[in-house]
Amino acid sequence: MITASPSARLSPPVSDWRELWRNAITDPAELLQAVGLGDRTDLLPPDDAGFALRVPRGFVARMHRRDPFDPLLLQVLPQRLEHDRVEGYATDAVGDMAAKTGHGILHKYDGRALLIASGSCAVNCRYCFRRHFPYNEEIAAASQWREALSHVRADPSIRELILSGGDPLALATHKLQELTQGLADLPQVIRLRIHTRLPVVLPERIDAAFIGWLGAVPLQKVVVLHANHANEFDTSVDAACAKLREAGATLLNQSVLLRGINDHADTLAELSERMFAAGILPYYLHQLDRVQGAAHFEVSDSIALELEQALRARLPGYLVPRLVREVAGDPGKRPL
Ligand SMILES: *Cc1c(COP(=O)(O)O)cnc(C)c1O
Ligand code: SF4
Repeated sequence: MITASPSARLSPPVSDWRELWRNAITDPAELLQAVGLGDRTDLLPPDDAGFALRVPRGFVARMHRRDPFDPLLLQVLPQRLEHDRVEGYATDAVGDMAAKTGHGILHKYDGRALLIASGSCAVNCRYCFRRHFPYNEEIAAASQWREALSHVRADPSIRELILSGGDPLALATHKLQELTQGLADLPQVIRLRIHTRLPVVLPERIDAAFIGWLGAVPLQKVVVLHANHANEFDTSVDAACAKLREAGATLLNQSVLLRGINDHADTLAELSERMFAAGILPYYLHQLDRVQGAAHFEVSDSIALELEQALRARLPGYLVPRLVREVAGDPGKRPL
């Protein structure tokens, strides 16, 4: 099914994504060194609080030198504040444990089933609920997607499959192909959605084999990216987005509203404009999930609403993301 052109297959890969993945920075002192802050180890906590640092070098290259408040650095650098215990911040902030239906399947909303396709990410985002999720037991891709496919078969109301994680593009392309082959006799599924941060943090993942697979999937295709700041984009991200679009995917983005990173109208407006230049429409702006260790990123609802109003006043409507929060038990994301 891989339809990469012969020439694409013969030319040696410029930079194999697996190699770049393995080569990510995982040592906080090395990260500080890489951004010219080698003398600022005072910024680091005594340990990693069970959620290690991980960031690809290409993403680090987009950080400003010698700036401890760089918006990309703050998304990945472990901080002392994470060790504060704040009331109301839990380890299962979005009720995922209650919504489990089988191995790696979350079916909370009508018509859409979410598969936890992989537990891995190329980057560890400090604000992420994933820092507490027991992913190892709950991966849909294990056992050839059998449980996931039989769950879908048993419920004809499921029209859309969402691959999430972790990052589903952490899987080898042949693993993704296995799933879409399994969908061939399930005509009820008309849409495949992929939630991924990889085209932003490791754009080399969008290689010829992946595009060959995606282009051949006979479904409507949506790729929901995750970027929080305009500085996350560069020409390599633009190129990955262009390839995804050429393969027939509609590109959307979800951001998380993060104190000290993107909690200004200028920053959010610039992000929307930059994304549109890359062919992406803003989808959601999430209020932070209240996970232990992320309280210092929270923006109050009143400021969040002010920011959304400011965006409405200065951007075309299609560049204003929907401000939402995930509430356990709700039938969908809740608008603020
Ligand atoms: C967020 C989410 C979805 C997708 O919701 P949309 O509003 O369609 O983007 C689906 N299933 C689960 C379990 C989710 O958490
Ligand atoms: S799931 Fe998304 S937000 Fe969480 S660590 Fe992975 S890439 Fe970051």
